[in-house]
Amino acid sequence: MSRIRGKDTSIEVMVRRYLFSRGLRFRKNDKRYPGHPDVVLPRWHTIVFVNGCFWHMHDDCPKGVRNPKSNVEFWSAKLLRNRERDRMQRAQLEADGWHVITVWECELTKTAREERLARLYEQIVGQSADAAAGPADDAAGDSGMAVSDDVKSNGVTPVRAASAGPMPSETSPGNVVVPNTTTPPDTSR
Ligand SMILES: [Zn+2]
Repeated sequence: MSRIRGKDTSIEVMVRRYLFSRGLRFRKNDKRYPGHPDVVLPRWHTIVFVNGCFWHMHDDCPKGVRNPKSNVEFWSAKLLRNRERDRMQRAQLEADGWHVITVWECELTKTAREERLARLYEQIVGQSADAAAGPADDAAGDSGMAVSDDVKSNGVTPVRAASAGPMPSETSPGNVVVPNTTTPPDTSR
């Protein structure tokens, strides 16, 4: 499997360089998550896979359907397994609250890459309204306020924990609930 992921291929490096140049910070090939995603952006609750079209059987893509001339059955079975595994890993990550984006090799050709990478950036930072209800990964510890778990699971984030993006109140004012009216005693002595 390490042939497929875990090694920096040039398309992965290209994507990482771009995201870094746009000021995003991330972990790479994080082994804590299914599929060891190429790019993990905890702040944006987003995971990016950079997939080779052949190895991951890109649908409707010439590179994704061409089989090697020899050992056709062996390769077909292997690639089908790859694809099934990709699907399960993605479902698992999404169930855990991650926004999962796949960038395909064929989207990174010389002529296409500029547009694709710009769109990728927008895909990452443009969904921050949803991000407030994302994985608890970096939401914990951010706030000194005691918020019960059932409040969190409603997607309501304390105002003080909204450091991951625009304030929730900008998009959905009716959704903001202040857990209690007693403010933390930061002026206590
Ligand atoms: Zn493709």
